Amino acid sequence: MSDTQNARRVADAARVPRILALANQKGGVGKTTTAINLAAGLAAQGLSVLLIDLDPQGNASTGLGVGYDARRLGTYALLMDDAAAADLVQATEIPNLAIIAADTELAGAELELVMQDRREFRLRDAIARVGSGYDVILIDCPPSLGLLTLNALVASDGVVVPLQCEFFALEGISQLVRTIDRVRRAFNSDLHVAGIVLTMYDRRNNLSELVAADARGFFGDQVMDTLIPRNIRISEAQSHGRSVMAYDAKSSGAMAYQAMAKELIARMKLAKPKGKAVRA
Ligand code: ADP
Ligand code: MG
Repeated sequence: MSDTQNARRVADAARVPRILALANQKGGVGKTTTAINLAAGLAAQGLSVLLIDLDPQGNASTGLGVGYDARRLGTYALLMDDAAAADLVQATEIPNLAIIAADTELAGAELELVMQDRREFRLRDAIARVGSGYDVILIDCPPSLGLLTLNALVASDGVVVPLQCEFFALEGISQLVRTIDRVRRAFNSDLHVAGIVLTMYDRRNNLSELVAADARGFFGDQVMDTLIPRNIRISEAQSHGRSVMAYDAKSSGAMAYQAMAKELIARMKLAKPKGKAVRA
């Protein structure tokens, strides 16, 4: 290895990743879709990204093309400190984007964690072991406020909250905000809302506009400027195991998630690395 390669490795290893949880205890609001496509968008901006699939349903793993036979070791092994980083992290078809998939045992983790030492800190401790060298780590949470989501919040710097532009979008959000406040007080004083993103926005539907106005009324500029439209290409891409950018770069969905990535970088003042080596 040359001196410059060596220096790069040392610099990479020293980099402290920004950690973001995609959380909302409601199902079907766009957490996983946003995790996948935001990750792809950040990677396209030259950032080195790791996506951790913390939902036992494993939709983020499927949506990024990780087959069932490639899920023997994943997030459960990560939480239980059962495997080396090299055996957990998988490359995706997207340069700069790696994933730790949901393994089959993850479904039992919620109960098993209760009995573990430092049960709220398992993911934070694990990321300290495997997370160096990434610019951003995204955590796709399950649709609950149980111990898995709690682990994500304790491990994270920020929370990205997807809000579906539908009836009852804001219902339950106060409970999520209270949970974030409680985690901040008890475990993680740095935790903050990094952005609320409106998903499945439909220009032709007045309800979308009403939900957007309501959300901005409540949360002000915590609501991101970027709106994610309802776009069939987004869900098609997932069924093909691809990001929407890889599936149809010109679709409204792909452009929206690219814009969201740029907005988040600006909000978090995440510097874009110059000429950094591509990580598989
Ligand atoms: P969650 O992870 O919060 O449960 P998902 O991201 O899985 O929600 O989204 C629920 C469903 O809605 C999925 O089938 C997904 O493909 C679809 N979906 C999400 N966002 C969009 C969108 N912007 N346009 C069209 N379909 C979407
Ligand atoms: Mg999901």
